[in-house]
Amino acid sequence: MRCPFCSQPDTKVIDSRLANDGDSVRRRRECITCGERFTTFESAELVMPRLIKSDGTRVPFDENKLHSGIMRALEKRPVEMEQVEAAINRIKHKLRATGDREVKSRQLGEWVMDELRGLDEVAYVRFASVYRSFQDVSAFQEEIKRLQGSSNEKSSSKKGDR
Ligand SMILES: [Zn+2]
Repeated sequence: MRCPFCSQPDTKVIDSRLANDGDSVRRRRECITCGERFTTFESAELVMPRLIKSDGTRVPFDENKLHSGIMRALEKRPVEMEQVEAAINRIKHKLRATGDREVKSRQLGEWVMDELRGLDEVAYVRFASVYRSFQDVSAFQEEIKRLQGSSNEKSSSKKGDR
């Protein structure tokens, strides 16, 4: 797994033992590049379905990636970290609750958009513009129209009858 200190992808396990009466495995890891050591816990609770990307490849769910994607969308927006964490937990819960071993990454993207829509509309549009541009351009355009319609409401009504 990736080193949390220097982000290099290669770390080695230097010690591995059962923890919490056998419910989890505690692993001591060392980064091959910078030599820093850190501990990971693995337990059945943390098992997440893998994601099926649009090209059909399967990748493991990556919470850090989810987190950074959401934070990027929320940059400089007035949203508390507590709300962000709660949103991420709801998304993870949905992923687990599918009971599937694999979930389409597109489905994950939809859940993220649902959460962002509830947190902050600007963040939602930012995320959707990046995400949907690769998926479904027309759906995105419709969404923008819908948002513009609801925020302008009457201010954009036709200019008189000239
Ligand atoms: Zn490192």
